[in-house]
Amino acid sequence: MSQLPDIAIPDDLLPHDGRFGCGPSKVRGDAVEMLAGSAGHFLGTSHRQAAVRFKVGELRNGLAELLSLPDGYEVLLGNGGSTAFWDAATLCLVEERSQHLVFGEFSSKFASATAAAPFLADPDVRSADPGGAPQAEAVDGVDAYCLTHNETSTGVAVAPVRPEGSGDALVLVDATSAAGGLRVDVGQTDAYYFAPQKCFASDGGLWIAACSPAAVERIGRLTSSERWVPAFLDLQIALDNSRQDQTYNTPSLATLFLAVEQVNWVLEHGGLEFAAGRCDASAATIYDWADAHELATPFVSDPDLRSHVVATIDVDDSVDAPVLAAVLRDNGLVDVEPYRKLGRNQLRVALFPAIDPEDVAALTRCVDHVLERLV
Ligand SMILES: *Cc1c(COP(=O)(O)O)cnc(C)c1O
Repeated sequence: MSQLPDIAIPDDLLPHDGRFGCGPSKVRGDAVEMLAGSAGHFLGTSHRQAAVRFKVGELRNGLAELLSLPDGYEVLLGNGGSTAFWDAATLCLVEERSQHLVFGEFSSKFASATAAAPFLADPDVRSADPGGAPQAEAVDGVDAYCLTHNETSTGVAVAPVRPEGSGDALVLVDATSAAGGLRVDVGQTDAYYFAPQKCFASDGGLWIAACSPAAVERIGRLTSSERWVPAFLDLQIALDNSRQDQTYNTPSLATLFLAVEQVNWVLEHGGLEFAAGRCDASAATIYDWADAHELATPFVSDPDLRSHVVATIDVDDSVDAPVLAAVLRDNGLVDVEPYRKLGRNQLRVALFPAIDPEDVAALTRCVDHVLERLV
């Protein structure tokens, strides 16, 4: 990309905010201002004292409301992001054998974690090619079904449903890029886990999990069994701390603060339905645009599988998508490069609730402007 075409997008086409990345993703300016305003008595204070514990409590209660948690579900949190939660779940939630639906990079990583665990049987892995989604199927001996609500690497979303005939097996759902943006019935799941740098418009480093009483029971049993569990990944320790609105070790206070700002913003505007409605509007805009454009096509061919929080758009081979993304970046529209390992000539665009649907419309007009000058 030595000679990037010099294409200046006119100001009146540009979005108000040019951040369209899938994580870390756009943080609302209002939330950052609130953080700056509270900094003097919040940032740089002890996470064991009331101000931060109150914030953790606000986050746990706000999420319970936003996700309409069924009675008995508890919100746990700890450090390390969703990636750490995969290891914690391998140790503290999978008893003997898990089943994994693998349809992209993120879903494959949890399957690799359980496959590598010497104390577990080899997982039952059901795969689909990128752009599709496999089906769960109840299997004797599987005690944890591992689903992904939104596969961020491919832009495929599947609402989590407890597999028929799965009995008292647990349903563990990676909702990292879905939670807070896609509608969900958390009662279909036993651990609905995520990190706050996607739909929750905060920063990374934290994992958060809404856990059912059955999951809490499993955690208690496995962590008191003979299996060795490092304290950092011990979900019973995380649960004990969470119940006191604390974390096992020091969290990022800014991450907590911004996550609470986003939860409150969504709740003040009507809750998950408001957030999902914004994502629906953005999704309609970008998929309709791609369907109508002769140089663009939604990568996910089945409209029912197309994610309303992460859109993947294939670009005609006559256009070099990395050059297109670089020109956009040059104009302040950032992070629409495709997921690196998918290796397709495409753009990937986050449609998270914090991203204004008007800005998604503006992005399509900017892409039009650049395409007209690139081909
Ligand atoms: C981003 C993402 C992850 C990884 O989250 P980290 O907090 O970076 O560990 C896992 N799963 C999905 C579906 C994601 O989108």
